[in-house]
Amino acid sequence: MIPAAGKSTDVSRERGGEEEGFAPAERDWRRSALAASGDAQVSLWASAETAREERFGKRIFVRGVIEVANFCRQNCSYCGMRRENGALRRFRLAREIIRRVIGESLPPSVTDLNFQAGEDPVALKELVLPVIEEIAKEKRLGISVCLGTVDHRLYDELRQAGARGYIIKLETGDPEQYRLLQCPGTLERRLEAIRYLVRTGWCVSSGLIHGLPNQTLDQLVGTLDLLRSLSLSGCSVSPFIPGEGTPLSSEKTADLEQTLNVVAVLRLSSPRWVIPAVSALNLCDSSGYVRALRAGANLATINLTPSEWRGDYQLYRRNRCIMTEERILQAIEQAGCQPSLESWIAASSSFPPSASLVPASRSSP
Ligand code: SF4
Repeated sequence: MIPAAGKSTDVSRERGGEEEGFAPAERDWRRSALAASGDAQVSLWASAETAREERFGKRIFVRGVIEVANFCRQNCSYCGMRRENGALRRFRLAREIIRRVIGESLPPSVTDLNFQAGEDPVALKELVLPVIEEIAKEKRLGISVCLGTVDHRLYDELRQAGARGYIIKLETGDPEQYRLLQCPGTLERRLEAIRYLVRTGWCVSSGLIHGLPNQTLDQLVGTLDLLRSLSLSGCSVSPFIPGEGTPLSSEKTADLEQTLNVVAVLRLSSPRWVIPAVSALNLCDSSGYVRALRAGANLATINLTPSEWRGDYQLYRRNRCIMTEERILQAIEQAGCQPSLESWIAASSSFPPSASLVPASRSSP
């Protein structure tokens, strides 16, 4: 049975910001919700939308993203930016270009800025760090980064520079699937990085991919359990899109309806999470983005990467779905919502601090 909004399992489990283990009944609920169709599915999405409104109202956080570099030392099987994709033209933006985007092209609705790159410590040190140092002094923006698994020292330097949010996705919490897909490093190291970031005061957002080739319901439920154990501020779900120039290019695209079930389950399981609607949903169907906002998502992202480089930031394919401010504001309106005036990082920071209390059985994946 789908829990009524406001009676979420998450709230009942929180004890002073810490989360406990997961009861079998909850796992059963999530299994049926993930597989919901017909009336049950409509009711699932509606419950999730209500749960979001009870915690956040009708406000959708709006962040801008600048994709600063597409070099990557990792080799994820599902990503077009993997190091073995020799067909991709690699770039690092010049600092002046990043400054110009922030200084001259920042849409008024943006309250947060996210710097994103492949796992590229050069871009981190030479581009992102100095730019954050500058803008953190000048602008009242929530600053987040998505830069991969790097040395703790670099996380500390980024935080010292003024970044407060770190986006670091698991994609899958199943150790064997993680290894087979060549996800970044090892699952153990990724989890260790997330726990370090949480411990040192970052607002951490993670995520998973739904519809990966041969993904089982057990793997999906296990991944959701693991994500919930990590004291995150937010979490996203991306539909699997077979990426050009990847070993999975001929696999099947994820089912949109079932991906929306995952969005709703994330919201109902963890009502306080900031849950982004991801642009890849529109690659499944042009209605995907709006429908994610109606199924419990509450963050939208405007792409600020200069058009000359967007095609080369090829997570899936060159022909991307670019979410401009106009498209984002339209989607928010179509979902019956309004842009938030508050940064997602400021909103997340106002929740009680939560220490990571990972069940012992999960500490060594
Ligand atoms: S998903 Fe991220 S870490 Fe993996 S290859 Fe792509 S850019 Fe690199």
